[in-house]
Amino acid sequence: ASRETARIVVDAVAVIAATVDAHVDELGRMDAIAGDGDHGIGMQRGSHAAAEAARAAAEAGAGAATTLLRAADAWSDRAGGTSGALWGVILSSVADRIGDSGRPDAPAVARGTADAAAGVMAYGKAEPGDKTLVDALVPFAEELGRAVAAGASLADAWRTASGAATEAAAATADLLPRMGRARPHAEKSLGTPDPGAHSLALITAGVADVLAA
Ligand code: ADP
Ligand code: MG
Ligand code: MG
Repeated sequence: ASRETARIVVDAVAVIAATVDAHVDELGRMDAIAGDGDHGIGMQRGSHAAAEAARAAAEAGAGAATTLLRAADAWSDRAGGTSGALWGVILSSVADRIGDSGRPDAPAVARGTADAAAGVMAYGKAEPGDKTLVDALVPFAEELGRAVAAGASLADAWRTASGAATEAAAATADLLPRMGRARPHAEKSLGTPDPGAHSLALITAGVADVLAA
């Protein structure tokens, strides 16, 4: 039974890797404008390691939470870079809330996502407005929490939250980076969204399709 409940996690992490694959060059180009150009390749390394680890854990009979935790650890171990560590924090925060028995429910995922936003800010010290993935993650978590509290299904709430993340990521084009490698070349990045915010929005859109299936 636990293998069945881990299926949604395996599918979600596989879709994350496929989403990154489809955008790997775009993410690299965005990161090259003011950063070091490795965001596509780093996200690809991390998400594929995570997908493999999730598949192996589920195959060994792990439930949803344990499967997602294995994915989180593999991502941060193998990605390298700031975003790899932060994606480890994001996935492990959700894992800590969803439990190993049963299908992950909407309130648990919403709590995990709120923890992820708080955890990323605690770990990386960026705040909203600093032009980082925090600028997409915070509105995503807020909208998810709001929609779930209003009684929406996980799939519907996630779709709404993903729309908010997509808008917020696009809006980072107008911001000057105050954190990370892009900071010394801040003015060059004006007009381009933050790569980490953009990849997060793309990933939430990909996962929305898994939850709706
Ligand atoms: P690196 O900067 O180590 O090369 P990546 O290129 O993979 O790592 O990721 C860059 C992205 O990481 C940025 O676009 C930004 O979204 C995010 N980022 C960088 N520093 C921070 C931070 N302190 N807090 C939150 N996000 C950050
Ligand atoms: Mg980089
Ligand atoms: Mg780097």
